[in-house]
Amino acid sequence: MAYQEPWKRVFSELIELRGGALQVAQYMGALSGLKRSLDDWIPYSQLPAYLSLIADLGLAIELDCVFSRLPETQQSAFGSRYAPTTRAGGRSLSSKEVRALMNGQPCDGSNSDFHFAPGDEVHVVVAKQPEWALQTLGAAWYPLVVDNRIITKPYGDAFRLGSALGYPECCVRFFMEHNQWSTQNQFAETLKASRALSWKANCLAKNTRWMLIFHMPCAFDCPATLEYSGLVLEEVRRFDPAYANSIEAYLKQTVLVSNERLAFTLGSARKSKSNRISYINVKSLQEFIAVRDPLHDDYFNALSAGDELLIEDGTIFIWKNGEFVRAIETSCDQGIAEVPLVLDFVEG
Ligand SMILES: [Zn+2]
Repeated sequence: MAYQEPWKRVFSELIELRGGALQVAQYMGALSGLKRSLDDWIPYSQLPAYLSLIADLGLAIELDCVFSRLPETQQSAFGSRYAPTTRAGGRSLSSKEVRALMNGQPCDGSNSDFHFAPGDEVHVVVAKQPEWALQTLGAAWYPLVVDNRIITKPYGDAFRLGSALGYPECCVRFFMEHNQWSTQNQFAETLKASRALSWKANCLAKNTRWMLIFHMPCAFDCPATLEYSGLVLEEVRRFDPAYANSIEAYLKQTVLVSNERLAFTLGSARKSKSNRISYINVKSLQEFIAVRDPLHDDYFNALSAGDELLIEDGTIFIWKNGEFVRAIETSCDQGIAEVPLVLDFVEG
């Protein structure tokens, strides 16, 4: 409680500078050292103020590369259904830019050392210890599309990155084995490996302000994950009890998930005798994502048109007031494998 007042000031500034409240709990975890490091994307014009804030918080930072928006005509770049980051151009920061940033020079166009374009964001790594930030930077890769060919990171670096970010080792190994977007659905594998579902392992809120964990657990009752997320939540509670309570309430929901980019909460979901699931409303868990999966709106509209669903043989059948209204056909052979699942985190 000692730093409750400062957090309000500092964190409201952080939210403003980074342009949204995603990852706030992760910053709280990093401040306490519970979370070994985190990575984030900061609008370039906010970087001088952000760097100064990070220094005030006593955190170390490493600057990685620049993410630039692709022209409108390239929004459906080759590979966008197969790899997570194909909608941004990338370039390295020049040493002049890094020096100017570290010296607190403004990014307002008056400094010819900077080569930013409107919409550019800088990928950064933040940690309590400078060496933790450096280790994460050294292992942080993104798949690149160069001349319509996808270049992926070295396989072993997934383990280095997961460890550097402080994810449980069991979950990192599981991720490496099962996170193959075009051939496997990791949530289906995670569900198979789970004996129970705990809201503390609900990673599906990772694109919302109620994100508690960012990593994908090896099971929805993975002991290392439950311990870690419990500690992070306690840390959040020290900063802001009301925020901790709202995170907990948000995570205790029923979710329909088909893949990492297609996840929706089902309000007041109940299972009927016929195994159908009734619900009163649908909300997207990709609300804060700028570029959504091409199938997102179709899922959302179809689910919103109904109040009851049944998943059978990979198809989602939807009814409204007992009348059949729609079916969502899913596929496992066209880009990211879709395996529709309903995950109930309400009681767990
Ligand atoms: Zn695990």
